[in-house]
Amino acid sequence: MKPVIIIGGGITGLAAAWELQQRGLPYLLLEGSDRPGGKILTERAGGFIIEGAADSFLAVKPWAWQLCREIGLGDRLIGTNDHFRKTYVLKDGKLHLMPRGMRLLVPVDPDGLLESTLFSEEGKQRLLAEASIPAGSTGSDESLASFVRRRFGPEALEALGEPLMAGIHTADPEILSMAASYPDYLEKEREYGSVTTATRQAASKPAPLLPGQPTTAFVSLKNGVYELIETLQARLGDNIRLNSPVDSIDEEKIVHLASGEKIAAQAVILTAPTAQAARLVAGVSPALSARLASMQTLSSATVSFGYREEDLPGPLDGFGFVVAANEPTHLLASTWSSTKLPGRAPAGHALLRVFFGGHRHEADVDLPDDALMALAKAELRRVMNIEAAPVISRIFRWRQANPQYAVGYPEHLRQLREQSPAWLRLAGSPYEGVGIPACVKQGREAAKSLLD
Ligand SMILES: Cc1cc2nc3c(=O)[nH]c(=O)nc-3n(C[C@H](O)[C@H](O)[C@H](O)COP(=O)(O)OP(=O)(O)OC[C@H]3O[C@@H](n4cnc5c(N)ncnc54)[C@H](O)[C@@H]3O)c2cc1C
Repeated sequence: MKPVIIIGGGITGLAAAWELQQRGLPYLLLEGSDRPGGKILTERAGGFIIEGAADSFLAVKPWAWQLCREIGLGDRLIGTNDHFRKTYVLKDGKLHLMPRGMRLLVPVDPDGLLESTLFSEEGKQRLLAEASIPAGSTGSDESLASFVRRRFGPEALEALGEPLMAGIHTADPEILSMAASYPDYLEKEREYGSVTTATRQAASKPAPLLPGQPTTAFVSLKNGVYELIETLQARLGDNIRLNSPVDSIDEEKIVHLASGEKIAAQAVILTAPTAQAARLVAGVSPALSARLASMQTLSSATVSFGYREEDLPGPLDGFGFVVAANEPTHLLASTWSSTKLPGRAPAGHALLRVFFGGHRHEADVDLPDDALMALAKAELRRVMNIEAAPVISRIFRWRQANPQYAVGYPEHLRQLREQSPAWLRLAGSPYEGVGIPACVKQGREAAKSLLD
Protein backbone atom coordinates (compact mmCIF):
# COMPACT_ATOMS: atom_id res chain seq x y z
CA MET A 1 0.00 0.00 0.00
CA LYS A 2 1.28 3.47 -0.87
CA PRO A 3 2.05 5.64 2.17
CA VAL A 4 0.26 8.77 3.30
CA ILE A 5 2.80 11.53 2.78
CA ILE A 6 2.93 14.22 5.44
CA ILE A 7 4.69 17.36 4.31
CA GLY A 8 6.17 19.39 7.17
CA GLY A 9 7.49 18.17 10.52
CA GLY A 10 6.14 20.90 12.80
CA ILE A 11 3.81 19.85 15.61
CA THR A 12 0.88 19.47 13.18
CA GLY A 13 2.74 17.06 10.92
CA LEU A 14 4.15 15.11 13.87
CA ALA A 15 0.69 14.78 15.45
CA ALA A 16 -0.71 13.53 12.13
CA ALA A 17 2.12 11.00 11.92
CA TRP A 18 1.48 9.81 15.47
CA GLU A 19 -2.21 9.27 14.70
CA LEU A 20 -1.43 7.28 11.53
CA GLN A 21 1.16 5.21 13.39
CA GLN A 22 -1.36 4.39 16.12
CA ARG A 23 -3.78 3.21 13.48
CA GLY A 24 -1.22 1.15 11.61
CA LEU A 25 -1.42 3.07 8.34
CA PRO A 26 1.81 3.40 6.32
CA TYR A 27 3.08 6.97 6.20
CA LEU A 28 6.20 9.01 5.56
CA LEU A 29 6.83 12.47 6.97
CA LEU A 30 9.01 14.76 4.84
CA GLU A 31 10.59 17.72 6.62
CA GLY A 32 12.53 20.25 4.59
CA SER A 33 14.91 21.41 7.29
CA ASP A 34 17.47 19.57 9.39
CA ARG A 35 15.27 19.32 12.49
CA PRO A 36 11.63 18.59 13.30
CA GLY A 37 9.49 21.04 15.29
CA GLY A 38 9.09 24.01 12.91
CA LYS A 39 8.12 26.95 15.09
CA ILE A 40 8.79 25.04 18.30
CA LEU A 41 12.40 25.34 19.41
CA THR A 42 14.04 25.20 22.85
CA GLU A 43 17.67 25.97 23.48
CA ARG A 44 19.31 24.63 26.64
CA ALA A 45 22.50 26.46 27.54
CA GLY A 46 24.37 27.35 30.72
CA GLY A 47 21.57 25.94 32.89
CA PHE A 48 18.95 28.11 31.13
CA ILE A 49 16.00 26.68 29.19
CA ILE A 50 15.32 29.27 26.52
CA GLU A 51 12.21 29.01 24.36
CA GLY A 52 12.60 30.44 20.87
CA ALA A 53 8.85 30.79 20.39
CA ALA A 54 6.12 28.89 22.30
CA ASP A 55 6.89 28.54 26.01
CA SER A 56 3.67 26.80 27.09
CA PHE A 57 0.24 25.76 25.85
CA LEU A 58 -3.32 26.09 27.03
CA ALA A 59 -4.67 23.31 29.24
CA VAL A 60 -8.33 24.06 28.63
CA LYS A 61 -7.84 22.90 25.03
CA PRO A 62 -6.85 19.35 25.95
CA TRP A 63 -5.27 18.00 22.76
CA ALA A 64 -1.62 18.88 23.49
CA TRP A 65 -1.41 17.65 27.08
CA GLN A 66 -3.40 14.56 26.15
CA LEU A 67 -0.84 13.82 23.44
CA CYS A 68 1.96 14.37 25.99
CA ARG A 69 0.37 11.75 28.24
CA GLU A 70 -0.09 9.31 25.36
CA ILE A 71 3.57 9.46 24.36
CA GLY A 72 4.84 9.01 27.91
CA LEU A 73 5.38 12.64 28.92
CA GLY A 74 2.64 12.74 31.58
CA ASP A 75 5.10 13.13 34.44
CA ARG A 76 7.11 15.73 32.53
CA LEU A 77 4.21 18.21 32.32
CA ILE A 78 4.63 21.29 34.52
CA GLY A 79 2.19 24.03 35.41
CA THR A 80 2.95 27.72 35.64
CA ASN A 81 4.03 29.18 39.02
CA ASP A 82 0.58 30.57 39.72
CA HIS A 83 1.46 31.95 43.16
CA PHE A 84 3.49 34.56 41.20
CA ARG A 85 0.78 35.02 38.58
CA LYS A 86 0.62 38.72 37.78
CA THR A 87 0.55 40.34 34.38
CA TYR A 88 1.25 43.97 33.64
CA VAL A 89 0.24 46.26 30.80
CA LEU A 90 2.71 48.90 29.64
CA LYS A 91 0.65 52.05 29.12
CA ASP A 92 1.69 55.72 29.20
CA GLY A 93 5.24 54.61 29.98
CA LYS A 94 4.26 52.70 33.15
CA LEU A 95 3.62 49.07 34.04
CA HIS A 96 0.05 48.76 35.32
CA LEU A 97 -1.12 45.59 37.00
CA MET A 98 -3.83 43.79 35.04
CA PRO A 99 -7.05 44.46 36.96
CA ARG A 100 -7.99 41.68 39.35
CA GLY A 101 -10.83 39.43 38.22
CA MET A 102 -10.63 40.11 34.47
CA ARG A 103 -11.45 37.36 31.96
CA LEU A 104 -9.79 38.98 28.97
CA LEU A 105 -12.15 41.94 28.43
CA VAL A 106 -14.72 41.03 31.01
CA PRO A 107 -14.57 42.43 34.56
CA VAL A 108 -15.97 39.39 36.36
CA ASP A 109 -15.09 41.27 39.55
CA PRO A 110 -16.05 44.94 38.94
CA ASP A 111 -14.20 46.07 42.11
CA GLY A 112 -10.93 44.83 40.63
CA LEU A 113 -11.52 47.05 37.60
CA LEU A 114 -12.58 50.05 39.67
CA GLU A 115 -9.37 49.85 41.77
CA SER A 116 -7.13 49.52 38.71
CA THR A 117 -4.81 52.23 37.37
CA LEU A 118 -4.97 50.83 33.84
CA PHE A 119 -8.10 52.70 32.72
CA SER A 120 -9.48 56.20 33.08
CA GLU A 121 -12.78 56.55 34.98
CA GLU A 122 -14.56 56.94 31.67
CA GLY A 123 -12.83 53.84 30.29
CA LYS A 124 -13.89 51.79 33.32
CA GLN A 125 -17.52 52.89 33.07
CA ARG A 126 -17.52 52.13 29.35
CA LEU A 127 -16.18 48.63 29.99
CA LEU A 128 -18.79 47.97 32.66
CA ALA A 129 -21.53 49.30 30.38
CA GLU A 130 -21.09 46.36 28.01
CA ALA A 131 -23.57 44.41 30.11
CA SER A 132 -26.35 46.82 29.19
CA ILE A 133 -25.53 47.61 25.54
CA PRO A 134 -28.08 45.90 23.28
CA ALA A 135 -26.72 43.21 20.99
CA GLY A 136 -25.70 44.58 17.60
CA SER A 137 -26.54 43.09 14.24
CA THR A 138 -23.28 43.14 12.35
CA GLY A 139 -23.76 39.96 10.33
CA SER A 140 -21.57 36.93 10.70
CA ASP A 141 -18.09 38.44 11.08
CA GLU A 142 -16.22 41.63 11.93
CA SER A 143 -12.73 42.61 13.02
CA LEU A 144 -11.60 42.29 16.62
CA ALA A 145 -11.07 46.06 16.72
CA SER A 146 -14.60 46.77 15.54
CA PHE A 147 -16.10 44.32 18.03
CA VAL A 148 -14.15 45.57 21.04
CA ARG A 149 -14.78 49.26 20.24
CA ARG A 150 -18.48 48.57 19.73
CA ARG A 151 -19.01 46.48 22.86
CA PHE A 152 -16.34 47.61 25.36
CA GLY A 153 -15.09 50.98 24.10
CA PRO A 154 -11.83 52.34 22.65
CA GLU A 155 -9.80 52.15 25.86
CA ALA A 156 -10.52 48.43 26.16
CA LEU A 157 -9.21 47.96 22.64
CA GLU A 158 -6.06 49.93 23.41
CA ALA A 159 -5.21 48.30 26.76
CA LEU A 160 -6.53 44.75 26.36
CA GLY A 161 -8.00 44.01 22.92
CA GLU A 162 -4.90 44.76 20.88
CA PRO A 163 -2.13 43.63 23.27
CA LEU A 164 -3.82 40.53 24.66
CA MET A 165 -6.47 39.29 22.27
CA ALA A 166 -4.78 40.23 18.98
CA GLY A 167 -1.37 39.76 20.66
CA ILE A 168 -1.94 36.04 21.18
CA HIS A 169 -2.26 35.81 17.40
CA THR A 170 0.46 38.41 16.68
CA ALA A 171 -2.25 39.99 14.54
CA ASP A 172 -3.52 43.39 13.51
CA PRO A 173 -6.81 43.85 15.42
CA GLU A 174 -8.27 45.83 12.50
CA ILE A 175 -7.86 42.72 10.33
CA LEU A 176 -8.30 39.80 12.75
CA SER A 177 -11.59 37.94 12.24
CA MET A 178 -13.76 37.62 15.34
CA ALA A 179 -15.55 34.61 13.85
CA ALA A 180 -12.23 32.80 13.41
CA SER A 181 -10.44 33.87 16.59
CA TYR A 182 -13.11 34.54 19.24
CA PRO A 183 -16.32 32.91 17.96
CA ASP A 184 -17.46 32.43 21.58
CA TYR A 185 -17.64 36.21 22.04
CA LEU A 186 -19.92 36.60 19.03
CA GLU A 187 -22.02 33.72 20.27
CA LYS A 188 -22.31 35.23 23.75
CA GLU A 189 -23.47 38.52 22.27
CA ARG A 190 -26.01 36.72 20.08
CA GLU A 191 -27.35 34.37 22.75
CA TYR A 192 -27.14 36.41 25.95
CA GLY A 193 -27.17 39.93 24.52
CA SER A 194 -23.88 40.67 26.33
CA VAL A 195 -20.45 39.08 26.64
CA THR A 196 -20.18 40.27 30.25
CA THR A 197 -23.47 38.68 31.33
CA ALA A 198 -22.58 35.35 29.69
CA THR A 199 -19.00 35.31 31.03
CA ARG A 200 -20.11 36.12 34.58
CA GLN A 201 -22.68 33.32 34.46
CA ALA A 202 -20.08 30.85 33.18
CA ALA A 203 -17.53 31.99 35.82
CA SER A 204 -20.01 31.23 38.60
CA LYS A 205 -20.13 27.55 37.59
CA PRO A 206 -16.69 26.61 36.24
CA ALA A 207 -16.50 23.54 34.00
CA PRO A 208 -15.17 20.44 35.81
CA LEU A 209 -11.61 19.42 34.93
CA LEU A 210 -11.23 16.58 32.44
CA PRO A 211 -9.59 13.42 33.80
CA GLY A 212 -5.86 14.11 34.03
CA GLN A 213 -6.22 17.79 33.16
CA PRO A 214 -3.51 20.01 34.65
CA THR A 215 -4.88 22.60 37.06
CA THR A 216 -3.07 25.66 35.72
CA ALA A 217 -4.30 27.54 32.64
CA PHE A 218 -1.01 27.01 30.79
CA VAL A 219 1.34 24.05 30.92
CA SER A 220 4.79 23.25 29.61
CA LEU A 221 7.38 20.48 29.89
CA LYS A 222 10.25 20.21 32.36
CA ASN A 223 12.92 20.45 29.70
CA GLY A 224 11.09 22.94 27.49
CA VAL A 225 8.34 22.59 24.87
CA TYR A 226 10.81 20.95 22.49
CA GLU A 227 10.65 17.86 24.69
CA LEU A 228 7.32 17.15 22.97
CA ILE A 229 9.03 17.26 19.58
CA GLU A 230 12.03 15.16 20.66
CA THR A 231 9.76 12.49 22.14
CA LEU A 232 7.54 12.35 19.06
CA GLN A 233 10.63 12.12 16.87
CA ALA A 234 11.92 9.18 18.92
CA ARG A 235 8.53 7.42 18.84
CA LEU A 236 8.09 7.92 15.07
CA GLY A 237 11.62 6.77 14.19
CA ASP A 238 12.59 6.26 10.57
CA ASN A 239 9.23 7.39 9.26
CA ILE A 240 10.50 10.97 9.58
CA ARG A 241 12.88 12.09 6.87
CA LEU A 242 14.72 15.35 7.58
CA ASN A 243 16.49 17.48 4.94
CA SER A 244 13.80 16.41 2.47
CA PRO A 245 12.17 19.55 1.04
CA VAL A 246 9.23 18.89 -1.26
CA ASP A 247 9.10 20.80 -4.53
CA SER A 248 5.64 19.97 -5.80
CA ILE A 249 2.71 17.60 -5.75
CA ASP A 250 0.95 16.59 -8.94
CA GLU A 251 -2.61 15.55 -9.81
CA GLU A 252 -1.57 11.89 -9.81
CA LYS A 253 -0.65 12.17 -6.10
CA ILE A 254 3.07 12.00 -6.86
CA VAL A 255 5.17 13.99 -4.41
CA HIS A 256 8.28 15.50 -6.05
CA LEU A 257 11.21 16.19 -3.74
CA ALA A 258 13.77 18.90 -4.42
CA SER A 259 16.34 16.10 -4.69
CA GLY A 260 14.54 14.77 -7.78
CA GLU A 261 13.07 11.76 -5.97
CA LYS A 262 9.39 11.03 -6.62
CA ILE A 263 7.11 9.24 -4.16
CA ALA A 264 3.62 7.97 -5.02
CA ALA A 265 1.21 8.78 -2.19
CA GLN A 266 -2.04 7.27 -1.02
CA ALA A 267 -2.98 10.72 0.26
CA VAL A 268 -1.16 13.89 1.31
CA ILE A 269 -1.35 15.88 4.56
CA LEU A 270 0.13 19.28 3.83
CA THR A 271 1.27 21.24 6.91
CA ALA A 272 3.85 23.61 5.39
CA PRO A 273 3.16 27.35 5.85
CA THR A 274 0.80 28.81 3.24
CA ALA A 275 3.42 30.50 1.01
CA GLN A 276 5.15 27.14 0.54
CA ALA A 277 1.87 25.21 0.40
CA ALA A 278 0.67 27.50 -2.43
CA ARG A 279 3.75 26.65 -4.46
CA LEU A 280 3.47 22.92 -3.80
CA VAL A 281 -0.15 22.62 -4.98
CA ALA A 282 0.15 24.82 -8.08
CA GLY A 283 0.00 21.70 -10.29
CA VAL A 284 -2.96 20.23 -8.38
CA SER A 285 -5.26 23.25 -8.48
CA PRO A 286 -4.28 26.77 -9.57
CA ALA A 287 -7.36 28.13 -7.74
CA LEU A 288 -6.34 26.47 -4.47
CA SER A 289 -2.79 27.67 -4.95
CA ALA A 290 -3.94 31.27 -5.54
CA ARG A 291 -6.16 31.16 -2.46
CA LEU A 292 -3.30 29.88 -0.29
CA ALA A 293 -0.96 32.51 -1.74
CA SER A 294 -3.45 35.25 -0.81
CA MET A 295 -3.22 34.42 2.91
CA GLN A 296 -1.35 37.02 4.93
CA THR A 297 1.28 36.45 7.57
CA LEU A 298 3.36 38.63 9.91
CA SER A 299 6.88 38.14 11.19
CA SER A 300 8.06 38.30 14.79
CA ALA A 301 11.23 37.79 16.83
CA THR A 302 12.08 36.99 20.43
CA VAL A 303 15.15 38.20 22.28
CA SER A 304 15.97 36.37 25.52
CA PHE A 305 18.32 37.55 28.27
CA GLY A 306 19.58 35.67 31.32
CA TYR A 307 20.85 37.74 34.26
CA ARG A 308 22.37 37.23 37.67
CA GLU A 309 19.48 38.03 40.02
CA GLU A 310 21.71 40.31 42.09
CA ASP A 311 22.32 42.46 38.98
CA LEU A 312 18.61 43.19 38.48
CA PRO A 313 16.93 46.19 40.13
CA GLY A 314 14.44 43.80 41.80
CA PRO A 315 12.81 40.39 41.40
CA LEU A 316 10.84 39.69 38.22
CA ASP A 317 7.55 40.01 40.02
CA GLY A 318 5.06 38.36 37.65
CA PHE A 319 4.71 36.57 34.34
CA GLY A 320 5.58 39.65 32.28
CA PHE A 321 3.82 42.44 30.44
CA VAL A 322 1.96 43.24 27.26
CA VAL A 323 2.07 46.64 25.56
CA ALA A 324 -0.96 48.87 25.02
CA ALA A 325 -1.64 50.01 21.46
CA ASN A 326 -0.08 53.36 20.49
CA GLU A 327 2.59 53.10 23.20
CA PRO A 328 5.79 54.69 21.83
CA THR A 329 7.90 51.53 21.97
CA HIS A 330 9.00 48.79 19.61
CA LEU A 331 8.28 46.10 22.19
CA LEU A 332 5.26 43.86 21.68
CA ALA A 333 5.41 42.06 25.03
CA SER A 334 7.77 40.52 27.56
CA THR A 335 7.68 37.14 29.32
CA TRP A 336 9.46 36.80 32.66
CA SER A 337 10.23 33.19 31.95
CA SER A 338 11.97 32.15 35.17
CA THR A 339 9.07 33.46 37.26
CA LYS A 340 6.38 32.03 34.98
CA LEU A 341 7.76 28.49 34.79
CA PRO A 342 9.96 26.41 37.10
CA GLY A 343 13.48 25.43 36.09
CA ARG A 344 14.04 28.05 33.38
CA ALA A 345 17.18 29.56 34.95
CA PRO A 346 19.97 28.18 37.17
CA ALA A 347 20.03 29.09 40.87
CA GLY A 348 20.63 32.79 41.49
CA HIS A 349 19.68 33.72 37.91
CA ALA A 350 16.62 35.03 36.08
CA LEU A 351 15.47 34.69 32.47
CA LEU A 352 13.21 37.02 30.51
CA ARG A 353 12.41 37.64 26.89
CA VAL A 354 10.92 40.37 24.75
CA PHE A 355 8.94 40.14 21.51
CA PHE A 356 9.39 42.31 18.44
CA GLY A 357 7.67 42.55 15.05
CA GLY A 358 3.96 42.18 14.37
CA HIS A 359 1.92 44.69 12.42
CA ARG A 360 3.34 47.84 13.98
CA HIS A 361 7.08 47.21 13.66
CA GLU A 362 7.50 44.18 11.44
CA ALA A 363 10.76 45.52 9.96
CA ASP A 364 12.47 45.15 13.38
CA VAL A 365 12.69 41.42 12.68
CA ASP A 366 15.22 42.15 9.92
CA LEU A 367 17.51 44.32 12.05
CA PRO A 368 21.02 42.90 12.37
CA ASP A 369 21.63 40.98 15.62
CA ASP A 370 23.59 43.75 17.34
CA ALA A 371 20.94 46.38 16.51
CA LEU A 372 18.08 44.15 17.70
CA MET A 373 19.95 43.34 20.92
CA ALA A 374 20.67 47.03 21.48
CA LEU A 375 17.01 47.89 20.90
CA ALA A 376 15.89 45.22 23.37
CA LYS A 377 18.35 46.41 26.02
CA ALA A 378 17.37 50.07 25.56
CA GLU A 379 13.68 49.23 25.93
CA LEU A 380 14.30 47.11 29.04
CA ARG A 381 16.35 49.93 30.54
CA ARG A 382 13.50 52.39 29.90
CA VAL A 383 10.63 50.16 31.04
CA MET A 384 12.22 48.03 33.79
CA ASN A 385 15.37 49.97 34.76
CA ILE A 386 17.57 47.03 33.78
CA GLU A 387 21.12 48.30 33.28
CA ALA A 388 22.88 44.99 33.90
CA ALA A 389 24.78 43.09 31.24
CA PRO A 390 23.11 39.71 30.63
CA VAL A 391 25.10 36.54 31.19
CA ILE A 392 23.41 34.94 28.19
CA SER A 393 21.38 36.28 25.26
CA ARG A 394 19.65 34.71 22.28
CA ILE A 395 17.67 35.93 19.26
CA PHE A 396 15.11 33.85 17.39
CA ARG A 397 13.46 35.19 14.24
CA TRP A 398 10.14 33.86 12.96
CA ARG A 399 9.63 35.20 9.47
CA GLN A 400 6.13 35.02 7.98
CA ALA A 401 5.30 32.73 10.87
CA ASN A 402 2.13 34.30 12.21
CA PRO A 403 -0.92 33.58 10.05
CA GLN A 404 -3.47 36.40 9.90
CA TYR A 405 -7.07 35.21 10.09
CA ALA A 406 -8.65 38.09 8.20
CA VAL A 407 -12.32 39.11 8.44
CA GLY A 408 -14.42 36.69 6.41
CA TYR A 409 -12.11 33.83 7.38
CA PRO A 410 -14.76 31.10 7.88
CA GLU A 411 -15.92 31.52 4.28
CA HIS A 412 -12.33 31.56 3.05
CA LEU A 413 -11.69 28.31 4.93
CA ARG A 414 -14.79 26.74 3.43
CA GLN A 415 -13.54 27.62 -0.06
CA LEU A 416 -10.10 26.18 0.72
CA ARG A 417 -11.70 22.88 1.72
CA GLU A 418 -13.91 22.90 -1.36
CA GLN A 419 -10.96 23.52 -3.67
CA SER A 420 -8.88 20.68 -2.16
CA PRO A 421 -9.11 17.24 -3.77
CA ALA A 422 -10.37 14.45 -1.50
CA TRP A 423 -6.87 13.01 -1.08
CA LEU A 424 -5.32 16.28 0.11
CA ARG A 425 -5.68 17.63 3.66
CA LEU A 426 -4.47 21.08 4.71
CA ALA A 427 -3.68 21.29 8.41
CA GLY A 428 -1.77 23.55 10.78
CA SER A 429 -1.67 27.02 12.24
CA PRO A 430 -2.90 28.85 9.12
CA TYR A 431 -6.27 27.09 9.25
CA GLU A 432 -8.12 26.25 12.45
CA GLY A 433 -6.22 27.74 15.37
CA VAL A 434 -2.65 28.88 15.92
CA GLY A 435 -1.95 27.41 19.37
CA ILE A 436 -0.13 24.11 19.83
CA PRO A 437 -3.29 22.32 21.06
CA ALA A 438 -5.21 23.37 17.94
CA CYS A 439 -2.32 22.22 15.73
CA VAL A 440 -2.23 18.81 17.44
CA LYS A 441 -5.99 18.49 16.96
CA GLN A 442 -5.81 19.44 13.30
CA GLY A 443 -2.97 17.02 12.59
CA ARG A 444 -4.73 14.12 14.24
CA GLU A 445 -8.08 14.93 12.65
CA ALA A 446 -6.51 15.19 9.20
CA ALA A 447 -5.10 11.70 9.70
CA LYS A 448 -8.38 10.30 11.03
CA SER A 449 -10.39 11.84 8.22
CA LEU A 450 -8.29 9.94 5.66
CA LEU A 451 -9.31 6.69 7.32
CA ASP A 452 -12.96 7.70 7.14
C1 LIG B 1 6.99 33.67 18.40
C2 LIG B 1 5.91 32.64 18.55
C3 LIG B 1 5.43 32.31 19.82
C4 LIG B 1 4.44 31.35 19.98
N1 LIG B 1 4.00 31.05 21.24
C5 LIG B 1 3.08 30.07 21.41
C6 LIG B 1 2.71 29.65 22.73
O1 LIG B 1 3.24 30.13 23.74
N2 LIG B 1 1.78 28.66 22.85
C7 LIG B 1 1.21 28.06 21.76
O2 LIG B 1 0.36 27.17 21.94
N3 LIG B 1 1.56 28.43 20.49
C8 LIG B 1 2.48 29.41 20.30
N4 LIG B 1 2.86 29.76 19.03
C9 LIG B 1 2.20 29.12 17.88
C10 LIG B 1 2.67 27.70 17.60
O3 LIG B 1 3.99 27.50 18.03
C11 LIG B 1 2.58 27.42 16.08
O4 LIG B 1 1.31 27.80 15.59
C12 LIG B 1 2.79 25.94 15.77
O5 LIG B 1 4.01 25.47 16.31
C13 LIG B 1 2.75 25.74 14.25
O6 LIG B 1 2.95 24.39 13.96
P1 LIG B 1 2.74 23.83 12.48
O7 LIG B 1 3.16 22.40 12.49
O8 LIG B 1 1.36 24.10 12.01
O9 LIG B 1 3.69 24.69 11.54
P2 LIG B 1 5.28 24.85 11.54
O10 LIG B 1 5.82 24.78 12.90
O11 LIG B 1 5.53 26.07 10.71
O12 LIG B 1 5.79 23.57 10.73
C14 LIG B 1 5.79 23.50 9.34
C15 LIG B 1 7.00 22.67 8.89
O13 LIG B 1 6.94 22.54 7.47
C16 LIG B 1 8.27 22.52 7.01
N5 LIG B 1 8.25 22.83 5.57
C17 LIG B 1 7.99 24.00 4.97
N6 LIG B 1 8.06 23.87 3.63
C18 LIG B 1 8.37 22.57 3.39
C19 LIG B 1 8.59 21.82 2.19
N7 LIG B 1 8.48 22.38 0.97
N8 LIG B 1 8.89 20.51 2.31
C20 LIG B 1 9.00 19.90 3.53
N9 LIG B 1 8.83 20.58 4.69
C21 LIG B 1 8.50 21.89 4.61
C22 LIG B 1 8.96 23.58 7.86
O14 LIG B 1 10.37 23.43 7.84
C23 LIG B 1 8.34 23.33 9.22
O15 LIG B 1 9.12 22.43 9.99
C24 LIG B 1 3.89 30.70 18.84
C25 LIG B 1 4.37 31.02 17.56
C26 LIG B 1 5.37 31.97 17.41
C27 LIG B 1 5.89 32.28 16.04
